[in-house]
Amino acid sequence: MTPERYAKILRVLSKRQPTLTVLMDQVNKPHNLSAIIRTCDAVGVLEAHAVPPDDGRELDFQGQTYEATSGSAHKWVSVQRHASAVQAVRDLQGQGVQVLATHLSQRSVDYRDADYTRPTCVLLGAEKWGVGDEAAGVADGNIIIPMFGMVQSLNVSVAAATILFEAQRQRLAAGMYDTPQLSPAQLRDRAFEWAYP
Ligand code: SAM
Repeated sequence: MTPERYAKILRVLSKRQPTLTVLMDQVNKPHNLSAIIRTCDAVGVLEAHAVPPDDGRELDFQGQTYEATSGSAHKWVSVQRHASAVQAVRDLQGQGVQVLATHLSQRSVDYRDADYTRPTCVLLGAEKWGVGDEAAGVADGNIIIPMFGMVQSLNVSVAAATILFEAQRQRLAAGMYDTPQLSPAQLRDRAFEWAYP
């Protein structure tokens, strides 16, 4: 570990946003998972959340597709697994996090109208069926990216990037990247983990 590399680790960790995260509900294509993790790294998500597909397969975070698409982002964004989306939503809410489900419903609002400076988790749905009604129902809000084309939805990793960069924009404006959001002890411990995996 060179001093320059350690300094970079400290620089990146000083921008990490422990109060911004995603919950990927049965997102099952490795290239989508890895693209989302790469965006998480870029905006400063410290830890992401995922419910593995219910077809018995594990999340493919180590396969070649994942490696190829994420660069090395998966080394810098840990992923906490959950058994069910509804339970994960409730757990996050119990920690004071607002969960915003990407879901079209009567109460959906334009994603730009949400306040991402609050502790926030963006709930993303599976490629085939989207976010389940129950998880969307228990979420604090439903958000959509307005669409004016013939096709009804975006690729999940594109939707994730669009929303997470709006979160980054709001957090930059609020000065949330100017001072470390991690405590000195968290920063030191994480730096040690990253430097000596
Ligand atoms: N047939 C699915 C449905 O009806 O929800 C389409 C799922 S879409 C391909 C996969 C995921 O991408 C969605 O669950 C959501 O997380 C995200 N997504 C796609 N388009 C979106 C949009 N316009 N606004 C918000 N999220 C979107």
